Amino acid sequence: MSDRPLLMIPGPVEVSPEVLAAAAAPPPGHLAPGLVEAFARCLRAMRTVWGADASAVPMLVPGSGTIAMEMAVCNLLAPGDQALVVNSGFFSSRMAEMVRRRGARVEQVTADPGAHPEVDEIDQRLGRLSAAGDAAKVLFATHVDTSTAVRVDAQRLAEVGRKHGALVVFDGVCATAGERLEMSAWGADLVLTASQKVLGTAPGVALLMLSEKAMDARRRLGSPPPLCLDFLSWLPIMNAYEAGEKAYFSTPPTSLIMGLDASFEAMTRDLDGWFDRHERIGHAMRAVWKSIGLEIIPASEEIAANTLSAVRYPDGVDATLCAKIAARGVVVAPGLHPKMADRYFRVGHMGDVLFHPAKLRRTIEAICGGLGDAGYSVDVGAALDAFDSAAANESVQ
Ligand SMILES: *Cc1c(COP(=O)(O)O)cnc(C)c1O
Repeated sequence: MSDRPLLMIPGPVEVSPEVLAAAAAPPPGHLAPGLVEAFARCLRAMRTVWGADASAVPMLVPGSGTIAMEMAVCNLLAPGDQALVVNSGFFSSRMAEMVRRRGARVEQVTADPGAHPEVDEIDQRLGRLSAAGDAAKVLFATHVDTSTAVRVDAQRLAEVGRKHGALVVFDGVCATAGERLEMSAWGADLVLTASQKVLGTAPGVALLMLSEKAMDARRRLGSPPPLCLDFLSWLPIMNAYEAGEKAYFSTPPTSLIMGLDASFEAMTRDLDGWFDRHERIGHAMRAVWKSIGLEIIPASEEIAANTLSAVRYPDGVDATLCAKIAARGVVVAPGLHPKMADRYFRVGHMGDVLFHPAKLRRTIEAICGGLGDAGYSVDVGAALDAFDSAAANESVQ
């Protein structure tokens, strides 16, 4: 096992032995009692993790984060509808492109890489659209943009979206289950993610939580989405599974659902502690970068995500750093934002790996070693001390 490189990118991530074992059993049939029970537990756990009330609808469908995004777009918007995208990076731009391809109209509010559009600006833009008789039907935002590690203020965005009568959708692929979320209390209408990020399972499951309002919007939509992406195709299936009954529309990824069940089980044992740990380790990783003189891409600590770091290469170091770190047994990711991809690297710190400080230390050592190999020598001991003291508020040993 120790020869295996440690996967520290912002998804897919390291998977716990329990998840691995659950997903590695002979694939259950989609109507097997054990699968039906695991499916029901996953749907119930989703409500807890998302902070969604009983009127919300959880969905687990085969697919990636991108498929979940496509489902949100094509179930909520018809050709000609108006949408507003809060653009905080790479994945927000993808969402805008999906809206365009749906034949809907999209306005975007953008910000420099490392920042996010201000909520007041979104408020004003939504107000102007309404005043012009062209109110945005949907407000889209990326909770954590994986290209910059910037987190938006989801609660305030949901507030202004609602104020202007828009449905509020969050791409939570790099956030949900890692950043605190109170979907129903905040009034968000759809929050989506995928199995391979904070949820710590192999890629292949798209997860969405819909408000009643979002479901109603689909019912009233004039132009139905493709059958396999349609909320209405999946709704009776989810209702049946959550009630412990079997159902079929299209075969679910049964092995992955067994894995997700194990993952949710670990997470919901102490959900508050789980979120707290993401905050604490996010902070500790930022303390590490600071201790060795590296700058992060997010403009302030306040908007820096807890689930990953985006770290600028120091002077004299370039994108070959990632290969040098990989040679030391740890895989990190290069930059992704199209305006500056060659100027920084990214490290995922989400899910089960946070419960294994030895793996986090190994990551820090490999990065420090890689920086040394690139001609920028740093004090590994200082970096580890910075990690330990920031992470130690509650023992992570
Ligand atoms: C990873 C990611 C996606 C895309 O997910 P895939 O499963 O790769 O399709 C979308 N949005 C965000 C914020 C992501 O981090």
